Amino acid sequence: MTEVVAPVEEESPKSGPSSVGEPDQPEQPSGARGDMADASPLVYGNIGDYSLMLETVRAEGLSVGFVPTMGALHAGHASLVARAARECDVVAVSIFVNPTQFGDATDLASYPRPLDDDLELVAAFGGQVVLAPSVEEMYPGGPGARATTVRVARLGDRWEGAARPGHFDGMATVVTKLLAMTGRCRAYFGEKDFQQLAIVRQLVRDLSLPAEIVGCPTVRDEDGLALSSRNARLSDDQRRQALALSEALRAGATIWQSADPTPDAVVAAMDEVLRATTGVTVDYAALVRAGDLEPATAVGDVSAMRLLVAADVGGVRLIDNLDPADKAIMAEGRIGESR
Ligand code: AMP
Repeated sequence: MTEVVAPVEEESPKSGPSSVGEPDQPEQPSGARGDMADASPLVYGNIGDYSLMLETVRAEGLSVGFVPTMGALHAGHASLVARAARECDVVAVSIFVNPTQFGDATDLASYPRPLDDDLELVAAFGGQVVLAPSVEEMYPGGPGARATTVRVARLGDRWEGAARPGHFDGMATVVTKLLAMTGRCRAYFGEKDFQQLAIVRQLVRDLSLPAEIVGCPTVRDEDGLALSSRNARLSDDQRRQALALSEALRAGATIWQSADPTPDAVVAAMDEVLRATTGVTVDYAALVRAGDLEPATAVGDVSAMRLLVAADVGGVRLIDNLDPADKAIMAEGRIGESR
């Protein structure tokens, strides 16, 4: 299975947070972080108590790392929590399946919610605080009752934005809310959702939010499949078919690193791999500029680039992406998180 970061070690105990408000688990934090590393995290359902707790943490001179998630945590999420724990004094993780970013009610209803397992993973990788609010707590009166939506123009319109209308508005709105609740922090996001990361960076800049956004490399299974909570819905056959996404990225990167690449040849190589795989319906395969996600057109464009793919495998929508200049492809014939 996946090789990931080891759970956070206790070699550099830092001070832990003092208790504020009533966590929904009756455990009180104790002084040193070493005491807390393996303890259950403090779980808050109440936003006010969560915010106050982190304000107290900062008032004590400690830094806050924040990892927003929708739960069903796997080694990809764990890598974000572990990195936050290495770089920050106190790590908060939010677990909230945000209804406003799902277009499809069945998709929302069937999204896994294994809270106890998630709390164990958070604790094992160094997270101490969890925000797990109800839908009513996040959206009083229901998601439809709010009048404010955060919409990031242009960056949110293409690719996943075009395929899933309203998805990025829901994501941008909930991330803005979560960052407002968390306050000054370093916030960790996966490159796995490359367009999401670009949108979050933009909204933080545009709204002057007090968060430093940190992008983290995609964690993959050994065979190259990017970890995703959605992979659990794939049968064994479909999981094999899903490898077409990472294989397409590798094919595109190989062309990109060849002597005379053109954007069209790169895209054609990716398309060919996806279309040749039974059970895979390609949505898009693209070579884009990493900054604004506009399709690459010019040969010799010196901007940083990104390969993006999206496809349906057995009714499950999967996405993946890669830096086409990733040298591990040529050196090792594989794509991985070894950057
Ligand atoms: P999600 O729970 O799917 O909303 O994801 C929460 C965070 O985990 C997002 O920043 C994702 O980009 C990140 N993430 C999900 N899968 C991976 C992965 N395989 N590698 C790295 N980060 C990931």
